[in-house]
Amino acid sequence: MTVYLGIDFGTSGARAVVIDSVGTIFAETQYPFPIQAITIDTATHWQKVLFSLIEQIPQSIKGEINAIAINGTSATVLLCDRIGQPVDAPILYNDPRGVAVMEQLRTIAPPNHVVLSATSSLAKLLWWYDCTDLISKSSAETNPLYFLHQADWLAFLLHGKLGISDDHNALKLGYNPENLCYPDWLKQLPVSPMLPNVLAPGTPVGVVTPEVAHGLGLSPDCLVCTGTTDSIAAFIASGAKQPGEAVTSLGSTVVLKLLSTTPLEDAKFGIYSHRLGNLWLTGGASNTGGAVLRHFFSDRELESLSSQIDPEQESALDYYPLLRPGDRFPINDPDLRPRLEPKPDNSVEFLQGMLESIARIEARGYSLLQQLGASPLTGVYTAGGGAKNPTWTRIRERQLMVPMLTSLHTAAAYGTALLAKQGCLLEDRV
Ligand code: ADP
Repeated sequence: MTVYLGIDFGTSGARAVVIDSVGTIFAETQYPFPIQAITIDTATHWQKVLFSLIEQIPQSIKGEINAIAINGTSATVLLCDRIGQPVDAPILYNDPRGVAVMEQLRTIAPPNHVVLSATSSLAKLLWWYDCTDLISKSSAETNPLYFLHQADWLAFLLHGKLGISDDHNALKLGYNPENLCYPDWLKQLPVSPMLPNVLAPGTPVGVVTPEVAHGLGLSPDCLVCTGTTDSIAAFIASGAKQPGEAVTSLGSTVVLKLLSTTPLEDAKFGIYSHRLGNLWLTGGASNTGGAVLRHFFSDRELESLSSQIDPEQESALDYYPLLRPGDRFPINDPDLRPRLEPKPDNSVEFLQGMLESIARIEARGYSLLQQLGASPLTGVYTAGGGAKNPTWTRIRERQLMVPMLTSLHTAAAYGTALLAKQGCLLEDRV
């Protein structure tokens, strides 16, 4: 038996999925994250979760795992010493402390670069450099520190090699996936010795260490491959493969991802591209979405009211649903006013107006990506809480004018298991 393990460290929990070479799921394990303060022990907790996910897999399957890959939340980062021990609490994906270095960052990075955000990995690295003495006290020769993303560090725990990342995680650190290198302005910074070497996602790094193989019951030949971010892993899981195929995530916000033969970059709209095989994964995120729906309706109401909407009859309502002013994509206007008037007395009509309006914003987003040069949209998979609303799916199909596709899988861990399988193909191990 040849099987592959994908591990997902998401925002609310961790999951593992084992698949065989045709994609059949052999085992699944999970571990919810309790809400906890982030301390220097957080990484130790991640380690416990990682090992527990693997330990829970039945031994008959675990011993047959050929390769492992791990995804983490994008821009969740940590600083560790030469033996991989964290020297400070990790900084989570949404931690805005990087705002303290934004002024400096603007003088370093080109205008509108993807790193110019308080939550980018580079802002977090510069924060460690500027606002603590951890980096100044270290020495590249005798006492080096390593800056890693969550997925990089978790993979290190299995293969034992420090200083390795993948180009999906490294994008918000400033890595250029088109030229496959860090840009010169980044290489000149004093923190540059700490930047990880970047490989393509799903590249074999090495086999598990003997201690890990023995301790967790894995084969000593089990490969560990570079990983990806949680949202790209979920994209890969959907089954989207061809240029023009897209995945819309209808969660609290609306996130569009479209596979394209050409990369796009327009920081004004928050558009950037990740390399995915020989294609480019491009997209953008709007502040409209489920969070506004949740402000007015419970999930149960959303279900019952939606079933009373006729998706074939369009209302005359034209909203821009937002919780607070401002959007970036597909309209770049930090002062954009939320528009939810006129509000009909009838809740079914009001919800219909909102679902139609969010669908129009989604369609405008895909149009913008195509105007900027992305491959023409051919079909859309859906992820997130809104995916379970068939009325909305039909409304969106009418707006987007392409088929709505059914995802093969939605779990990010599944997409990451596919990356592990790809790593074995690269090593000719299948
Ligand atoms: P996130 O992970 O971004 O917080 P989820 O993917 O879990 O979001 O989706 C939650 C969102 O889905 C909520 O904001 C909720 O309003 C929305 N939602 C839940 N049920 C439905 C439904 N039947 N139709 C449309 N939206 C829904």
